[in-house]
Amino acid sequence: MTTLLVRHAMLLISMDDQRREIPEGGFFARDGIIEQVGPTVALPSVADEVLDLHDHLVLPGLVNTHHHFYQTLTRAVPAAQNANLFNWLKTLYPIWARLTPQDIHLSTQTALTELALSGCTTASDHLYLYPNGSRLEDEILAGMEIGLRLHAARGSMSLGESKGGLPPDSVVEDEDSILRDSQQLIEKYHDPNPGAFVRVVLAPCSPFSVTADLMRQSAALARQYGVHLHTHLAETQDEESFCLEKFGHRPVDYMKTLNWVGEDVWFAHSVHVNPSEMDLYARTGCGVAHCPTSNMRLASGIAPILDMLARGVRVGLGVDGSASNDGSHLMAEARQAMLVARLGAGLHGASLSGEGSPPLMTARQALEIATRGGAAVLGRADIGSLEPGKCADFFAINLNRLEYAGAMHDPVAAVVFCAPVLVDYTVVGGKYVVKDGQLVTLDLPRLIESHNRAAQRLLKKN
Ligand SMILES: [Zn+2]
Repeated sequence: MTTLLVRHAMLLISMDDQRREIPEGGFFARDGIIEQVGPTVALPSVADEVLDLHDHLVLPGLVNTHHHFYQTLTRAVPAAQNANLFNWLKTLYPIWARLTPQDIHLSTQTALTELALSGCTTASDHLYLYPNGSRLEDEILAGMEIGLRLHAARGSMSLGESKGGLPPDSVVEDEDSILRDSQQLIEKYHDPNPGAFVRVVLAPCSPFSVTADLMRQSAALARQYGVHLHTHLAETQDEESFCLEKFGHRPVDYMKTLNWVGEDVWFAHSVHVNPSEMDLYARTGCGVAHCPTSNMRLASGIAPILDMLARGVRVGLGVDGSASNDGSHLMAEARQAMLVARLGAGLHGASLSGEGSPPLMTARQALEIATRGGAAVLGRADIGSLEPGKCADFFAINLNRLEYAGAMHDPVAAVVFCAPVLVDYTVVGGKYVVKDGQLVTLDLPRLIESHNRAAQRLLKKN
């Protein structure tokens, strides 16, 4: 048995049901599970590991609900810098077709390292192409070395250009092998237990890259094993037109016809959803991975997040793939979520102080989406807040730094409003992933060098 005592934090943000913010706070954990949270004076005074966090803000680990790790290799690709989703994809598909298993390994470690340094402790990743012998295993094994919790989504594409889909035929797979691989991955890696480090998710890529049949069969397989379902949905106007033309339904209606609604389903984006579609999400329990930077980068639009929250939709935050962000900084994403929601409120006719103007997203709402919101979207009751019985997953930021100078009137708001920083500690299940601002689980300079070499090779053949 090992015990951990975190104490003397300037402020501990619990994100519990009362949203307690505890000055001079801390918690006591045993074997990675929290036993007590409160003011330092009320906690035990000894433990195997004691972490004094004077000057620090302590928050529950952030949860990333949508990513494509492999895209860290294709950030800022010149030909894809100034394109909307469909043209961006068509430019990048042939480059991605050169990915190797080693590239999946490297990019997974790069993305998870960035996430960890931004306060993330649990991430979902959506890998939907498997060229040159790449496998989801390559990602899962690489992820285990970093120490974050991973919800590895077995993505897929089966509707190539020759069948009316968007991706070239060279990057799509045969549907029988997709389903066979999905099943063996669930059986080998999915851990349904509280405290799980690896869960498997089934995730056909999008309405424009898989068939209706694969969507239905994936849902049936997922429900047979009790794993969750994920896909991109209602991201752009182009997608909406594609669905209306090809299936005779708007994207959300199309999902309904495929039995792709329920508490075990979450959708990335959901920018173009109307009130009745949001109500359907709320009624059936569908979750949303909000990816504000990607939506701005690809000019997709502004997702109506405050409206969704008001209607009772579960909302989490996602950085999305690094070719459309082009980073994996989840605290930065919380800031973007707050800012773009305000821009949306402004564009919809609200003056910032006028009577009857729609509410503006607050810093605390953005943090809530990034923590307990994300946990709910991934279907996890064991993470997302700091309270007894939950995993000891947290991060800490030293507030005594240039970026927050002059903002100590409200340190919680400061970490969202002020420029994003790298964190000082990230701890998952009571174990350090980041300590004193440094990643403890791998050699970062070597990773960056290998990663750059791999990225250069991918682009060279273009
Ligand atoms: Zn995505």
